[in-house]
Amino acid sequence: MRLPSIAESGFCIAASGPTELGWQPAPVPPDTAVCDDWVRELFDPADRRHRHPFITCTNWGPRFTIIKTLPYDRPNTTVAGFELCAACREEHTDPANRRHHAQPLACMQCGPTFQYERDGQVCSGTDAVIARVQADLAEGLIVAIKGLGGYLLAADATNDAAVTRLRRRKSRVDKPFAVMVPDLDTARRLARVDSAEASALVSPARPIVLLRTRADSGLADAVAPGNPLVGVMLGYTPLHHLLFASGPGAPERFPPVLVMTSGNVAEEPICFDDADVHRRLGPIADSICTHDRVIDAPCDDSIVRLVDDVELPIRRGRGYAPLPVRLPVAVPPTLAVGGEIKNTFAVAAGRTAWPSQHLGDMGNLETLAAFEASVARFTRFYGVDGAVAAVDAHPGYHTRRWAMQHAADHEVVDVQHHHAHLASLMAERSVDAGESVIGFVFDGTGYGADGALWGGEILIGDYTEVERWGHLREMLLPGGDSAANNPCRTALAHLFAAGVEWSESLPSVVACDDAERRVLARQLAMSTNCVTSTSIGRLFDVVASLLGLRHRITYEAQAAIELEVLAETADHAFPLAFLIDADGSIDPSPVVRGIAEAVRAGVEPAAVALGFHEAVVEAMVTCARRIGDERALTVVGLTGGVFQNVLLSRLATAALREHGFEVLTHRVVPPNDGGLAIGQAMVAAHGRERRGPQCA
Ligand code: ZN
Ligand code: FE
Repeated sequence: MRLPSIAESGFCIAASGPTELGWQPAPVPPDTAVCDDWVRELFDPADRRHRHPFITCTNWGPRFTIIKTLPYDRPNTTVAGFELCAACREEHTDPANRRHHAQPLACMQCGPTFQYERDGQVCSGTDAVIARVQADLAEGLIVAIKGLGGYLLAADATNDAAVTRLRRRKSRVDKPFAVMVPDLDTARRLARVDSAEASALVSPARPIVLLRTRADSGLADAVAPGNPLVGVMLGYTPLHHLLFASGPGAPERFPPVLVMTSGNVAEEPICFDDADVHRRLGPIADSICTHDRVIDAPCDDSIVRLVDDVELPIRRGRGYAPLPVRLPVAVPPTLAVGGEIKNTFAVAAGRTAWPSQHLGDMGNLETLAAFEASVARFTRFYGVDGAVAAVDAHPGYHTRRWAMQHAADHEVVDVQHHHAHLASLMAERSVDAGESVIGFVFDGTGYGADGALWGGEILIGDYTEVERWGHLREMLLPGGDSAANNPCRTALAHLFAAGVEWSESLPSVVACDDAERRVLARQLAMSTNCVTSTSIGRLFDVVASLLGLRHRITYEAQAAIELEVLAETADHAFPLAFLIDADGSIDPSPVVRGIAEAVRAGVEPAAVALGFHEAVVEAMVTCARRIGDERALTVVGLTGGVFQNVLLSRLATAALREHGFEVLTHRVVPPNDGGLAIGQAMVAAHGRERRGPQCA
């Protein structure tokens, strides 16, 4: 059985109501957006909730972020302190009313209120607050706005100076900002939106949908520098709708499109605690728009892409978390701690897993604190006190260290990174125990069973065990981790391995200065200060650099995204092919040589970019067919962060299907490390090697 997406399941996941999921109640529903009925009330001068920014009903509104304890009833939420007025109480208790048992119910008389603050001056009153925020935004200022799962930083998305200032203050160099629009028509003016993308945009989850920006979008360049995609979401709280509309005291002109980005600095988690906001966001925001409804847990906006009209989760947060995932096989009570970057964890028991919301990169204390608090919260909600802690085998991961520190409470089980990726995919797609799958697990990096860095893996197996059938040939990457930020250095390493001279006719060579080249040459010749990696993620970076597209990156997958989008524009593919050995080792050298020749011959870069994607797909098909013949296997899984690449995913799926394979891709949890946790739980429960980890 396939888990319904939230768009299909709608509000059926209400706590005490009937559930259409049919197998497991979801006691904690996700936060959902305002529905059209509300929006009508919001702008109806005759309605008693006209312009009330906390309008809500039984079906929609804040849930996950305001529930403190179960069952989900008003006294157990953060609105417990707001005593309902007589009119609201009547609606709340009348079974015929559509606000019957709407727990966060509120009105102007009894609900929470917004407050605006700038330079120590405070103002309140909904209309005054909204007018001040609109005026600030129109002036090009940055406003921290408290939303459902935390504070968002808002700025006029058409004002380059404002967005650039936001980048500087947030220490965010190039990583794209998401934008918020009032409606679908505005989204269509910014980007191309097909019908599946439109459905995702207006779904109750209101995720950020990655769309192809129009040339005449009017967006400031600083919104997504050099990136042809833009993340767009529709307003999802009543306040958002009010911000995009004219009201009492509103300035004549206010921005039709807003940058809306998580309230944080660089890789820290989103700010959601009112006690923190001045310290954390004071240096970034010119003014603060806050309210007195407490957020119990942080929850970032979700991000999706669409592949062949199906939602591919990139980041799972608001609107989705904590929807449960039905497991095909039962597991003991387990806490799966997830990975290191884009962390989400999961608690699981029996045939249900509850993946957490996106928490972020574990390398800072703020995220670790959010992780600990969220683990405690999930444990409390679901009564799953993990007897088992499933962890990534990487000895350096903070999540694993955290589990080791708490090892008295549970048995710690190491799970190999890529096995976890594959098991996550298999679990969300309901692959039964004992059924074997061919897994193409392509990502940036993960700790291999041999202690090396893996990332271009062809695995065969099930929840119990996988065999590493093949992989991208091992490459020496100079400078270890810093290679990831410098695709031109990795490109030089690949040229070296492929026997291509570092001549200045190649953009990657020009991108490295003499000193850098000398150091690299010495490191590669003597294999010093190098790490061995089989990462396909890095190979995408290499190709982007070889084509002169991107030599240094400031956020993960920057070069790979640009390569994908360039390839999309090609009208033909330049032919390239990997060499695949009998032992399943995939040699990229012929591809690297072919690209170097193409670049020197002045071949259209887009054609080479597409040719590279097709070569990867061709190699996948060749390997899958060999395995299929040897083992009589017909199901192929595509997982790992590289499969956020929609073009690759689409081409690979089509080609494999053409050869008779059934192809599984992600629909519920992300293919990146944000989706690791449920696979960890499955492998920890069913894996053959249940060895305790060696202490790092
Ligand atoms: Zn009221
Ligand atoms: Fe990974």
